[in-house]
Amino acid sequence: MNPSPRFADVILPLALPGSFTYSLPPALAGAVLPGMRVVVPLGARKLYTAIVCRLHDQAPAEDLRVKAVLEVVDRTPILTQDQLDLWRWMAQYYMCTAGEVMKAALPSGLKMESETLVRRNADFSGEPDERDLTLLDHLSADEAKSIDCLRSECGAAGLLSGLRRLVECGAATVEERLARAYKPRTETRLRPGPALLAAESLPALLRTLGRTPKQLDVLCLYLSEAELTEQTPPSLLATARPVAKRTLAALPGYSEAALTALRRKGLLEAFAADTGRLKFREALPDALRHRLNEDQQRAVTEVEQAWCKHPVCLLHGVTSSGKTEVYIELIRRELAAGRQVLYLVPEIALTTQLTERLGRVFGSAMGVYHSKFPDAERVELWQRQCGDRALPLILGVRSSVFLPFRRLGLVIVDEEHEPSYKQQDPAPRYHARDTAIVLAHRCGARVLLGTATPAVETYHNAHEGGKYGYVRMDKRFGHVELPEIIVEDVKELQRKKLMPTPFSPRLTTEVRRILAEGGQAILFYNRRGYSPVLTCRTCGWTPRCTACDVPLTFHRSMGRMVCHYCGAAYDLPRQCPQCADTELRDVGYGTEKMEAAVHACFADARTARMDLDTTRTRTAYEKIIDDFQRGTTNLLIGTQMVTKGLDFDRVGIVGILNADQALNVPDFRAYERAYQMLSQVAGRAGRRGRRGLVVLQTRQAGLPLIDQVVRGDYEAMYQAQIREREPYRYPPFSRLIAIYVKHRDERTCLTAAQWLADLLRPHFGTALLGPDRPAVGRVQRLFIRKFLLKVNPALPPAGVRRTLTQAADILRADSRCKGAQIYFDVDPMG
Ligand code: ADP
Ligand code: ZN
Ligand code: ZN
Repeated sequence: MNPSPRFADVILPLALPGSFTYSLPPALAGAVLPGMRVVVPLGARKLYTAIVCRLHDQAPAEDLRVKAVLEVVDRTPILTQDQLDLWRWMAQYYMCTAGEVMKAALPSGLKMESETLVRRNADFSGEPDERDLTLLDHLSADEAKSIDCLRSECGAAGLLSGLRRLVECGAATVEERLARAYKPRTETRLRPGPALLAAESLPALLRTLGRTPKQLDVLCLYLSEAELTEQTPPSLLATARPVAKRTLAALPGYSEAALTALRRKGLLEAFAADTGRLKFREALPDALRHRLNEDQQRAVTEVEQAWCKHPVCLLHGVTSSGKTEVYIELIRRELAAGRQVLYLVPEIALTTQLTERLGRVFGSAMGVYHSKFPDAERVELWQRQCGDRALPLILGVRSSVFLPFRRLGLVIVDEEHEPSYKQQDPAPRYHARDTAIVLAHRCGARVLLGTATPAVETYHNAHEGGKYGYVRMDKRFGHVELPEIIVEDVKELQRKKLMPTPFSPRLTTEVRRILAEGGQAILFYNRRGYSPVLTCRTCGWTPRCTACDVPLTFHRSMGRMVCHYCGAAYDLPRQCPQCADTELRDVGYGTEKMEAAVHACFADARTARMDLDTTRTRTAYEKIIDDFQRGTTNLLIGTQMVTKGLDFDRVGIVGILNADQALNVPDFRAYERAYQMLSQVAGRAGRRGRRGLVVLQTRQAGLPLIDQVVRGDYEAMYQAQIREREPYRYPPFSRLIAIYVKHRDERTCLTAAQWLADLLRPHFGTALLGPDRPAVGRVQRLFIRKFLLKVNPALPPAGVRRTLTQAADILRADSRCKGAQIYFDVDPMG
């Protein structure tokens, strides 16, 4: 590379397209490499942390206006070339900007936020506005304060407008600096100071402290903690172990003043040591580990053989067939060969159990990465992965595909069919499984997709497409049979008046029996809150969200109504605004009300509820799992969170309270998803020891899909789906791109959507569906229109994307569509 390039192209964490060119002052030119962070100005006052993606000597056409890089943040790159390439691929494929990828990829601590600082102008002699006098009192001429800091001192109300007036009249000035969000964690440690090191004899030195007994005590505390005695030859002091100050401070006889005196005399020396935030666990000795059974050994061999032909292999194994142990063996082989492994799981939910399980085998070789970890821990892991001490195994959710890997050999995508691998909002709307496959390809690594219920596209790729290898595991570990599934026809039962509770007679009897025998039960009900609708007893009025086109869900424990689309919470109305009746009825069930029904029906139940509302924090989630695992609770009721690959020993029965929720979704994937969800939740039953029981309640008992679930016949479901999708060219027979148009004003939204249709129709004809009003036509005050484009997979995708982007740009630039949001969702999931 050119030893001193003059320009750097950088990525800014913004939704602006393209990269940005800055000049490199000679002093910095030698110090910068692609993948490093730099600080650059943008506009009149903003500073940003940017990532250098290219160095070169080609002056941009408007050379005169090129601004200079202000600062180089890193000494070595924090991103590899492979990562930068992946970002570029993502921006292109998922139709967003590299800056949006950057925002999603880096933990906040690596981005540093632009933080405005305000200072009082000492030379100001005018009269500021009355209203701003208090605010001015909080400003100081000597020390600039950040807006954040002022907000905590004077409150947010009117703060920014007040500051603006003060700045405009000259009473205050504004400056910009970058806050360094990440600080390494340090502790103060003590070691021998120069006076101690120079001592000729320790006993003699200690005698000199005879008249200051407190200092003598503290020095002796240090010596004994550092495992030194009076007899230690002074020459060994130089290598004495440092001792944490807080260790000494916790001991009897410690005195802060005495320590200060010792430090002043140069007998002890304090220094800051980096302690790190990452926690590791001990691996179990080899002998205590699981040995693979024959089936698992065969799977390992077959996967490795499949990899010889295809870099991606699908491991299709029924629930509890022991796939995780197969992954563990493959990881072991990879680590032994000196390569790195990324183990992806769809949700934080799963990391808890897996951290434990993988930790027992890989101990401190494993790092865990997910969004509920404090940002500082994520920064630390990131930086560690850049260096020589990079951990060989990472367990993480979606965003861990962004971590730096130098020697990636294998990516495992567990529960590959999970829709939550796809990010919905904001951009980049990426699918972590597909992104991981691209990442692996770049790094020359292999991929293992594991699941009991493959995504239709994945199964297609493994069979008709011939793109992926395919390995099956048909038996459960320990030859436990797959659970028996009993279908309860709710319509019929209701007709016979046999459903006074939400639980069918059979479910009620079996749950009671199993709990009485000391077993556990899981009840699956996929709707959170107390009740999904409230209505006026007299006139039928229903409270709805003012920003979204949906009824509000009643949350009894909060005593409020919540919009599940925008999260807004409302107080309960005192009376109906239509007829002034004061009584509202709650219609239908949510998990909260189900829990109450469980208490009424099952006397032996010690319940726990697992849904979004009860798992806001990582610890809350862990506690629910832990309590259930240890038997403190014996009945777990929850939303789809309970379906996700959890492994409990004593679950004798699983009740699916309303299979129809999954079936009646207006989406071409509804049946596929229902099959996956129902089979997965059924798979939680009877994992170890005895055969489990599943009671599936539905009003559509005659549906072929129900029969497929009961028989565990994935192939039948797959074939039926393929037959249905082919004539309509749904995936895998096309690639989908959803196009969204949103606006606050419904008419403008319609106009923009219609215009977009006019621009696109000539290119795509009937492959373009829409514009349609989605089931929920307004969210967060924005009206929505949606298109679906079925792209022929044989066509070059670049041309299609260009057409779409150009059309969107035309609309965005036109004043008639002012304020319209237009964006794309490639391979949409919903
Ligand atoms: P899957 O991932 O396919 O659902 P798991 O790997 O979780 O299946 O295995 C199911 C259960 O069987 C787990 O409780 C696991 O500990 C146990 N198990 C699997 N393989 C072995 C083995 N080789 N030795 C002992 N126990 C095993
Ligand atoms: Zn009313
Ligand atoms: Zn809302």
